[in-house]
Amino acid sequence: MTDQDRHLPQVETIAAAYGVAMDPAFGAIAPPLYLSSTYEFAGYGQPRVYDYGRSGNPTRDMLADALAELEGGAGAVITSSGMAALDLLVSSLRVGDCVVAPHDCYGGTMRLLKARADRGQIALRLVDQGDEAAFGAALEGSPALVLIETPSNPLMRVVDIVALATRAKAVGAEVAVDNTFLSPAIQRPILLGADYVIHSTTKYLNGHSDVIGGAVVAADQGKVDQLRQWANIVGSAGAPFDAWLTLRGLRTLFARLAYQQANAMAVAHHLENHPAVAKVHYPGLRSHPGHGIANRQQRGFGAMLSFELAGGAEAVRRFLAAVRFFTLAESLGGVESLVAHPATMTHADMGEDARAVAGIGEGLLRFSIGLEAERDLIAGLEEGLTACI
Ligand code: PLP
Repeated sequence: MTDQDRHLPQVETIAAAYGVAMDPAFGAIAPPLYLSSTYEFAGYGQPRVYDYGRSGNPTRDMLADALAELEGGAGAVITSSGMAALDLLVSSLRVGDCVVAPHDCYGGTMRLLKARADRGQIALRLVDQGDEAAFGAALEGSPALVLIETPSNPLMRVVDIVALATRAKAVGAEVAVDNTFLSPAIQRPILLGADYVIHSTTKYLNGHSDVIGGAVVAADQGKVDQLRQWANIVGSAGAPFDAWLTLRGLRTLFARLAYQQANAMAVAHHLENHPAVAKVHYPGLRSHPGHGIANRQQRGFGAMLSFELAGGAEAVRRFLAAVRFFTLAESLGGVESLVAHPATMTHADMGEDARAVAGIGEGLLRFSIGLEAERDLIAGLEEGLTACI
């Protein structure tokens, strides 16, 4: 049998088994963790594969290779956080380059982009990427980079990656997609035309709320090399132990998300029919404006959703005091269910005006749905909702 005839592993297999049983020293099933910060040269002028931990580390590289395969990219760079991943890309642009980003992106993303724009390092255009005309107008500024976040955080707005990437590339821009909310188990933006995928590996990829990390996957090997070099220059690489934990979390990515998104669908249906709820934002619902696009470009609808309580800020206060099985906390993508109030937490730094433009109101709550029993989640949720009426 030639190499070409051999069956290639599916993404589920890559997640479960990348690097398993590859230890030449002892035949360890779980990949070894290399903590060493430095490496012995074979002799004078003879560095080995690794010489210094900022430049490269075998454990970090194993995670990078697994993520690159999962996303369908040429390679990846593992960073110390999701923000460091985004900044690796943004800080490698030339001074004055224009970045087009969604006006309703993650608050930390907006803070980073605005901070770099305020210092004159980039030109920034924030735009409703679901509005064709507004997106077209933003492209007239000849951007170097178009950043897409779909579904968006926290409003779960879905945009068409193929359509946006085609238009962005027609004006010479590169395209990066933040795939944190779905992971490659559900969406693979490089196969839809993106040049880069950005991750907060803190979220679904690690999945256990015990690591802060990030990754940039690039479609093109030349870009991977450039980003690796830049990560070495600025020193933004992730820690080996974090990479090892993330690789361990990755093993169960597909199984976790299958269960979590089934729970999310049940929670969304429950919310949709409740008198205390004014609106539910979950792309799995037929009523969601992005349902059709999500159906086309995703392999499922994910386990994030948000909803608006009809009673505004006072209802939020009552809900949070009464709800059970959802912990009030930032972050998402772990095995446990969390609830966040974007206006005072994840998106507080955006400022009231920008929140109003993006549509993030006082009554909006965001859920990250975990692996608890569906019945418990619905019962705990009902206790919160009953308190709001
Ligand atoms: N991108 C999205 C969509 C996020 O939700 C977050 C964090 O919440 C980040 C990026 C930033 O990741 P990190 O907290 O790992 O820096």
